[in-house]
Amino acid sequence: MSYDAKIVDVQVYLVEKAIKGNFADSTRNVETIGYCITDITTDNGLHGFGLTYHEVGGEAIREFILKALKPKLIGRSPFETEAIWEECFHYIRGVGRKGLAFCGYSTVDIAMWDLKGKLLNMPLYKLLGGVKTQIPIYASGGWTSYSLEELVEEAREMVRRGYTKIKLKVGVEGGNNPNEDVRRIRAVRDAIGPDIGLMLDANNVWRSATAVQVANRLRDLDILLFEEPVFADDIPGLAHFKQSTDIPLATGEHEYTKFGIRDLILANAVDYVQCDVTRCGGFTEILKIIGMTQAWNLAFAPHGMEYMHMHLMSAAPNAPFLERLFMFEDVSAMVFKDAPQPKNGYLELPNKPGLGMELDYDNIKEVCVKF
Ligand SMILES: [Mg+2]
Repeated sequence: MSYDAKIVDVQVYLVEKAIKGNFADSTRNVETIGYCITDITTDNGLHGFGLTYHEVGGEAIREFILKALKPKLIGRSPFETEAIWEECFHYIRGVGRKGLAFCGYSTVDIAMWDLKGKLLNMPLYKLLGGVKTQIPIYASGGWTSYSLEELVEEAREMVRRGYTKIKLKVGVEGGNNPNEDVRRIRAVRDAIGPDIGLMLDANNVWRSATAVQVANRLRDLDILLFEEPVFADDIPGLAHFKQSTDIPLATGEHEYTKFGIRDLILANAVDYVQCDVTRCGGFTEILKIIGMTQAWNLAFAPHGMEYMHMHLMSAAPNAPFLERLFMFEDVSAMVFKDAPQPKNGYLELPNKPGLGMELDYDNIKEVCVKF
């Protein structure tokens, strides 16, 4: 039996959803969220897909995949992930070592791994060497635009839905009112009790000195991690934060490739590495990144996109939990026929080949952005 196949077509679908109401974190309003989905077809009729998410720039990602990457894939085997990664990295490097172009490349790599699983008739977690099928997952929301009452109510709802760990946004009023942040975090801790893991995400808002000041005012609240308390590119500032508080530091969602994560690690500027397979270069790259986190005895706790990360969680021994952003539940429901739903704080991996998920083509074709 031949396991191999050749890529004969690449399609890209853009699915977007307007976010109504006032959803904001410390540094921006969220107006639209969407998925850019790359669908690769092989000559034996299999489909593999990968996706990345965006708030802006989805059209550019789609065009980049179709114009720059598709011609490099036609006629190739989905098993050539290392070779194609290396070729494409150099082919696109002038415009594409980071940012939109690399989000686009990530979808292609993920789609090829989905196909590898399908060609081998094996769920991805098994192909990656994992055993675990129940993956701990936490609820993520708590926007800074919420009133205190809305914030506390959502936190209670997360706990009612069975989550044992939750994350909320901090940095209200553009980071200019730390007193109010401390009040809000304290109110949530009081509402959920001492046994629920509580994480904070400041979305890049503070300079290091202010972030340390805020963190040190939260010492008694048992904070599990503090995410992006400082501008993500201020690596020395992140390192200063890490040395100045005992709250573990999470960052990495804005880094691309092993090179970005290497710099964070070497600067001693991270405890929880939160890189995102849909940005950082797909499975081919994130496996190397996970290896680096193991070598430095750090935690790997990927950013959002639970359906793209869930199989990795089975294989990575240093991956404590997966993130589920409540804001993405609707757009995921538009795209997948059979997305597993979390129960009691765990996501059960599908026991089907590849990513183990089916796209809802009828719905996607109806709602996708037409060009
Ligand atoms: Mg974040």
